[in-house]
Amino acid sequence: MTTRSETRTALDHLLTEIEHRNPAQPEFHQAAHEVLETLAPVIAARPEYAEPGLIERLVEPERQVIFRVPWQDDQGRVHVNRGFRVEFNSALGPYKGGLRFHPSVNLGVIKFLGFEQIFKNALTGLGIGGGKGGSDFDPHGRSDAEVMRFCQSFMTELYRHIGEHTDVPAGDIGVGGREIGYLFGQYRRITNRWEAGVLTGKGQGWGGSLIRPEATGYGNVLFAAAMLRERGEDLEGQTAVVSGSGNVAIYTIEKLAALGANAVTCSDSSGYVVDEKGIDLDLLKQIKEVERGRVDAYAERRGASARFVPGGRVWDVPADIALPSATQNELDENDAATLIRNGVKAVSEGANMPATPEAVHLLQKAGVAFGPGKAANAGGVAVSALEMAQNHARTSWSAARVEKELTHIMNDIHTTCHETAERYDAPGDYVTGANIAGFERVADAMLAQGVI
Ligand code: NDP
Repeated sequence: MTTRSETRTALDHLLTEIEHRNPAQPEFHQAAHEVLETLAPVIAARPEYAEPGLIERLVEPERQVIFRVPWQDDQGRVHVNRGFRVEFNSALGPYKGGLRFHPSVNLGVIKFLGFEQIFKNALTGLGIGGGKGGSDFDPHGRSDAEVMRFCQSFMTELYRHIGEHTDVPAGDIGVGGREIGYLFGQYRRITNRWEAGVLTGKGQGWGGSLIRPEATGYGNVLFAAAMLRERGEDLEGQTAVVSGSGNVAIYTIEKLAALGANAVTCSDSSGYVVDEKGIDLDLLKQIKEVERGRVDAYAERRGASARFVPGGRVWDVPADIALPSATQNELDENDAATLIRNGVKAVSEGANMPATPEAVHLLQKAGVAFGPGKAANAGGVAVSALEMAQNHARTSWSAARVEKELTHIMNDIHTTCHETAERYDAPGDYVTGANIAGFERVADAMLAQGVI
């Protein structure tokens, strides 16, 4: 029987090896540290998990594809971007995870997201493996025609690697309904198949699920509500700070309002807006979803209650709960200290890995309820899996039915994380609970399926 400290030493060695074998991938190293550092208790308690090679297989993607994406802009100039798809783990089902179009995308970023996705998807309890993809293409300022040509070129390579039973991409940063439409069209054209289940986040009327656009934001608010409930509180009357102003942020703000809380901020890479009266969602949707504008336009049009802070951080605004919903490492130790000083009760991650490890540590030490992304933002991928189920059955469910399923799944994830943390002597530690519960499900499937 290995002890916890022997297991910890073995995991430390493995983490050093991961850094050597995957140079210049700091985000992937960070994600691997975050998970592996919490696994010692479960590996020490269950000897089958100490089997040589299990964790080594878990941290090595099953397949990584990198490809050239040439496309022409509206002036006829040729641009060359890089495309990625990392198929990380299919022990539980077809690879599933979004596509990100952002200039910061590189292999390490996609691997961090794909690695997180394995455990997140396992936590949903549904039959989906983990994968992620994207490109260093920047859609900002590009015309619809340019985005279409880029998506078509991207899919002209990607189509070989995906399929409804193989790998099912969805959206992420820079990839919303418009991009999924262009990608799906090109897939259909190349393959000459109506294979609705090959992509999720599709439009309503051609295979999309109701509540999929809302699912990540709604799910995160439901997770935050469950954490508060555990402490005898609820969302009614709470003030919230939300970062980002994309898909996740918008539907986070919407669900907060529906549950009686008030979101007073949103942001993008230019800065943030604080609105004393609470964010006006119709105005924000008009600017972001229709006009594809910047958040300063919100402050200009909203009137006296709102102001724009260029380059600032929403975490400076006092609030009861914080829901980071933009990007990785957007909430650091200083931000965490500010939130704590201002009396924050809960932080729930809508984005993937938005809080740095130091910030997470500080928040947990201060007794703040902290919901890690792989649990708190799993609602998006869960409804994507429900979209796949509807596609297979050639049917579509009502919004009420999908939302009921989503609520059930988020409450289940919360309970699983909470109970697992208690089982491994870490009460209230949702990071440990999420990592161990996700790991157990994937590791059991991997062990049962042999050394592959
Ligand atoms: P969107 O592209 O719709 O919105 C992203 C938002 O974050 C924009 O406001 C964007 O501002 C801001 N942002 C992105 N990168 C940066 C950056 N480097 N610095 C500052 N602001 C930035 O993406 P989503 O809302 O879909 O995704 C947000 C987060 O949620 C990501 O971490 C994603 O991985 C995660 N997530 C998304 C899911 C989904 O279903 N969409 C599911 C689970 C997690 P700007 O326009 O200025 O770049």
